[in-house]
Amino acid sequence: MVWRQIDFAKYSSIKIGPKIEVAVIEEQDEFPSGKILIGGANNLLISNNPPPLMILGKSFDFIEIKDDSLIAGCAVKTGRLLSFAKKHNIANFEFIAKLPGTVGGMVAMNAGVKEYEVFNIIQEVKLGNRWVKKEEIEYGYRFAKLDGIATKVKFKLEYGYNEKLKNELLALRNNQPKEPSAGSFFKNPPGDYAGRLIEAVGLKGKRVGNMGFSEIHANFLVNYGNGTFEEAIELVTKAKELVLQKFGIELQNEVQIL
Ligand SMILES: Cc1cc2nc3c(=O)[nH]c(=O)nc-3n(C[C@H](O)[C@H](O)[C@H](O)COP(=O)(O)OP(=O)(O)OC[C@H]3O[C@@H](n4cnc5c(N)ncnc54)[C@H](O)[C@@H]3O)c2cc1C
Repeated sequence: MVWRQIDFAKYSSIKIGPKIEVAVIEEQDEFPSGKILIGGANNLLISNNPPPLMILGKSFDFIEIKDDSLIAGCAVKTGRLLSFAKKHNIANFEFIAKLPGTVGGMVAMNAGVKEYEVFNIIQEVKLGNRWVKKEEIEYGYRFAKLDGIATKVKFKLEYGYNEKLKNELLALRNNQPKEPSAGSFFKNPPGDYAGRLIEAVGLKGKRVGNMGFSEIHANFLVNYGNGTFEEAIELVTKAKELVLQKFGIELQNEVQIL
């Protein structure tokens, strides 16, 4: 096992976090206990003192076609997977355009856009050293209960890459702020939108220090430059309090806080 120094103020999409040593795990390694595996940190808010972390190394960064499946290692970035799908005329990966992350992070979050979710196209997930069928995994809106670390994923293989669909889904991102963020901060409560609720309690555009709920899309907590973990938490706590008071709804974080 080797170590890599990661500066989370650069590595994470929201540009917050300390510079720390993270274990890099390769295929021949045992998974150490007591460490949390992360991917590209596009859905994370890392505190000043996070738990011990690990990432997957190069041996998990591969894509191959085998029989009726596309197999990808969990360190593969979504951008690379989409390029592969386009190059080989493979269908169903169009929704991952501009959905930043790794295959592992996508599976753990059941990432998606509208009705397109990664679990729609999964056949099996390798958890540690064991292949597990999708039917045996509990998953739902932005969660998957993985009994272990996802190392590889078997996707169903269908041909017919759809550039038009990709462009339609990309157009939905026009109202996404350009500043660093971790994507939507809260999950949408059933039948409602977290962004609408945050706006309704007057927090759209609200800033604390250099962090703020975007003026463009209230469910994006954005970093205007050198924003801190404490500023982020103050805003998140305020939003939860006010939404609970006014609507009786408990907002759930989509972003994982470590
Ligand atoms: C601008 C922007 C737009 C976004 N748009 C969308 C969107 O449209 N739809 C959407 O669903 N998400 C969206 N996101 C959130 C993010 O892109 C996804 O959640 C993505 O799947 C995170 O991947 P990651 O590799 O960065 O995971 P990380 O953020 O590193 O980790 C996320 C979680 O997954 C766990 N995890 C990571 N890898 C593994 C693994 N191999 N095995 C087990 N657990 C693992 C981590 O422990 C953590 O709990 C957006 C984010 C940004 C910044």
